[in-house]
Amino acid sequence: MKTSFILLFILSSSIFPQQTNKFLFVIHGGAGTITKGSITAVEEQSYKEKLKEALFAGYEILKNNGSSLDAVEAAIKIMEDSPLFNAGKGAVFNNKGKNELDASIMDGRNLNAGAIAGVHHIKNPISLARLVMEKSQHVLLTGDGAEEFASANGIQLVPEDYFYTEKRWQQLLKAREGDKKDSIPKINYINSDYKFGTVGAVALDKHGNLAAGTSTGGMTNKKFGRVGDSPIIGAGTYADSICAVSCTGHGEYFIKNAVAYDVSARMKYCGHSLVQATEDIIHNVLEKQGAKGGLIAIDKDGNLAMPFNTTGMYRGYIKENGSWEVKIYGE
Ligand code: ASP
Repeated sequence: MKTSFILLFILSSSIFPQQTNKFLFVIHGGAGTITKGSITAVEEQSYKEKLKEALFAGYEILKNNGSSLDAVEAAIKIMEDSPLFNAGKGAVFNNKGKNELDASIMDGRNLNAGAIAGVHHIKNPISLARLVMEKSQHVLLTGDGAEEFASANGIQLVPEDYFYTEKRWQQLLKAREGDKKDSIPKINYINSDYKFGTVGAVALDKHGNLAAGTSTGGMTNKKFGRVGDSPIIGAGTYADSICAVSCTGHGEYFIKNAVAYDVSARMKYCGHSLVQATEDIIHNVLEKQGAKGGLIAIDKDGNLAMPFNTTGMYRGYIKENGSWEVKIYGE
């Protein structure tokens, strides 16, 4: 009798996923040259309020039994709709004076992933990335094709001037000037004219599922259809059953070092803790290559890490008990 009861318990818990009640949500709004003097007190307040809004949007979903994917998408949409961040509405301009958007999302339950790159008319790139994941047989769609897919699936395209903001335009003009001074023009991530502000989110839901998403306008003055790490699964975004990661920084280095996947690989193959893995990648591997940036990450046990090697990173977390924090500088 006792044995059959135990057997039944084991069977039912493997058929019905465990509800752990543990959940966690972490977001970022980009890493870069962010110091007390580089933004005004009013700007600082606006950033903090928007981060808080995005954080609580995800929290409400997770608290009410929602999925990690829904939390990630909801929070990123809020930041995409704000002109403050380099994603959606506040995206930077490329060398041709256009806004060219990249995004990706990944479901840690089953490694499903969706991404888009180089789109010009998509208000919420993260939602299109999710649609690619859920309604196409592909992982990454680019440019016109991605927009055709959006239209075919009922997503309304917005005119290009929706993305115009004076602040980003001035940054482009400045960056173009800087380029003229270099004999070989190159993107210098440390130069604040190239601006930060990519957004990302990682979530662990009550069912124990992890998800990650990232959205960006890329780097100011980017040329020749340049695509960074944000829409590259394993570089800017990754989620599996071990951890969920979203990166921000000089994308080329994040691609070359497969940063987001490396966090999971180190945990899986080397037995690193989440903090050990992420700190080593940001402060050792990337730093040695002169690469600037940061990441947010959580693991299946509810640990979190938010390392960066720039002066600041817009970031925040909220735990299941409602305790939360948003930070900007390197405190
Ligand atoms: N990683 C982004 C890119 O390289 C930029 C950023 O995060 O600031 O496109």
